[in-house]
Amino acid sequence: MILVTGGAGYIGSHAVLGLRESGQDVVVFDDLVEGHAESVAGVPLVQGSLADRDLIEKTLRDYPVEAVMHFAARCYVGESVTNPAKYYQDNAVGMFQLLEAMRTVGVNKFVFSSTCAVYGTPDQVPITEKCERRPISPYGTTKRFCEEMLEDYCRAYDFAVVALRYFNASGSDPQGRLGEWHNPETHLIPRILRCELSGQTERLQVFGNDYPTPDGTCVRDYIHVTDLAEAHRLALGVMKAGEFQFFNLGTGKGCSVIEVIEAARKVTGAEVPYDVVGRRAGDPPELVAAVDKARDVLGFEASYKDIEETVRHAWNWLKNHPDGYPKA
Ligand code: UDP
Repeated sequence: MILVTGGAGYIGSHAVLGLRESGQDVVVFDDLVEGHAESVAGVPLVQGSLADRDLIEKTLRDYPVEAVMHFAARCYVGESVTNPAKYYQDNAVGMFQLLEAMRTVGVNKFVFSSTCAVYGTPDQVPITEKCERRPISPYGTTKRFCEEMLEDYCRAYDFAVVALRYFNASGSDPQGRLGEWHNPETHLIPRILRCELSGQTERLQVFGNDYPTPDGTCVRDYIHVTDLAEAHRLALGVMKAGEFQFFNLGTGKGCSVIEVIEAARKVTGAEVPYDVVGRRAGDPPELVAAVDKARDVLGFEASYKDIEETVRHAWNWLKNHPDGYPKA
């Protein structure tokens, strides 16, 4: 059985779906602050905080857990700058509590949700795993710190760890069973689509068009959340006791903000009016993954590389759930 922390969140719930479809038993641990119980209906769910080490230990004993997938974390770059304490507490201290509970109970297999934010502003693109980690936000700093903690646990306590550095998680289940719902929503694709749903009472802002990129807007690597789920499943197959392994997860293809807007126009059939405003603090011009290591070692390759298809999946869920998941 796999314990999935943050399993009721956007990426976690897609991973839970993928695991169950491959025949794995799963138990979810989630505080439901940002997660949605409905996204894991029918799956055992323990509602609790990572600050509660006793409850984590009890969960690890109550269920026959062999490995942990750890998604539970705060993930807003901007918020991490204004409220770093929340990130040090929930991401760094939270994971420490989880690792200590695992060590007490004797579970040592761990898949970690890391991020391309650990690289900061890279010297070169595409970004390989050899690129130095120089995060430029407290969010990225806490994730790098978690990676370092995990490396130490591998060396000292024989943990088996795979850290997956996601680029821009996007899209939703192609069959429309799950979606992305954050409040407030800050991510580009759902922002565009929610402006569309609001009849443009909310209007899209494009953060800067004076970057050194072909059309002046930021370039990102949008990786489908269903592909991320598959990579987590593959991670279980490559982990080895005493080894800390890490992989970038992306498509290898960059898309500018304007290209995403154009994809959304094609998907929804409506123009996407927008205002160009100033740059957002902490946004590097271009983040695109080198995908070779994930392909060669993990056996992972993104199956959704067409941004229009990814946006279509996001739109299919959102237009059927204009108010998101029901409140618990
Ligand atoms: N972006 C934008 N307007 C928005 C939200 C995002 O122009 O309302 C841009 C943002 O500056 C970045 C890209 O879209 O270049 C992707 O941002 P997002 O917040 O989705 O992901 P991030 O790259 O921060 O992980």
